[in-house]
Amino acid sequence: MPGRPAGQQRLFAESAGSAPPSQAGRTRPETLQSVAGLSLCVLGSGSGGNCTVLRVTGADGQHDALLLDAGFGMRRTARKLAEVGMGFGDLRAVCVTHFDHDHFKPAMCKTMADYGIRLFCHHWHVPDLAKMRGSQALFDAGLVEPFGDGLFVPMPGVTATTTRLQHDRQGTIGYRLSTRFGDVGLATDLGHAPPTLIDHFAGVDVLCIESNYDERMTINSSRPVWVNRRNLSDSGHLSNEQSFEAVCAIRDRSPHGNPRHVVLLHRSSQCNHPTKVRRVFERDPALARRTIQTQQRRRTRWVRVRPLRQVLRRQLCLVSA
Ligand SMILES: [Zn+2]
Repeated sequence: MPGRPAGQQRLFAESAGSAPPSQAGRTRPETLQSVAGLSLCVLGSGSGGNCTVLRVTGADGQHDALLLDAGFGMRRTARKLAEVGMGFGDLRAVCVTHFDHDHFKPAMCKTMADYGIRLFCHHWHVPDLAKMRGSQALFDAGLVEPFGDGLFVPMPGVTATTTRLQHDRQGTIGYRLSTRFGDVGLATDLGHAPPTLIDHFAGVDVLCIESNYDERMTINSSRPVWVNRRNLSDSGHLSNEQSFEAVCAIRDRSPHGNPRHVVLLHRSSQCNHPTKVRRVFERDPALARRTIQTQQRRRTRWVRVRPLRQVLRRQLCLVSA
């Protein structure tokens, strides 16, 4: 990172959070060790596609995995999964935030039907899915699992609760996925962070939330006025400032040290820049150290939450070494 002061290099975890080019390439798959715990990897995030893998590994080394959104085509998703040593055969479910093209691609329907992968979406969004080319294959196979406001189990060992968020006409869904190792909260494409979202995500171990735009860059951009008006509205996206405020509010409602990881999603390529995001989040150095910025074309490293016993054992080893 030439040009950045050494102090800043240590402060923000962005570079540590992105897979180095050598690992992100097609030829060097990153395999997960079979260590019990919860692991999360954002395969890519932005208006060109969003997809996150959540994987739960038991003490016996057996694992189950699901996707949060599937906004890349079938081939790109397969390639990105292969980069982390996985394939469609490893997936149990896809949980969809909403059916905008960057969050779910119609081409995924046939692949999901072929592999028996279940699709979880809010019953509000079922008409959007039904209109989608190829979705009948999922309905015919009985793989569409609409949910309401209650709790559901997208795969063994994971319990999901959701909160509805404002975004365009149809809204979007914020997911809290709870496992015996820890909880993940994910919210993207939301015009604002309501108190219900802060309540819902209080105490999570991994917080994934969008930090979409810098307000000044948006206002000064060459985009049509109606696009800017929509993005800046309560039904658009979260700015860096709004995202930081939401993360701080969730942190303030959580036990000390949580969220252990903050993953910033869906950064606009036209109206934001990693430096702008970094400047906002470095107002709280402790938070900045736990923060990762996602990218459109490169996946993040695996973010892991392991059972407390394992972490303590590792710390004891380090102390006695
Ligand atoms: Zn989006």
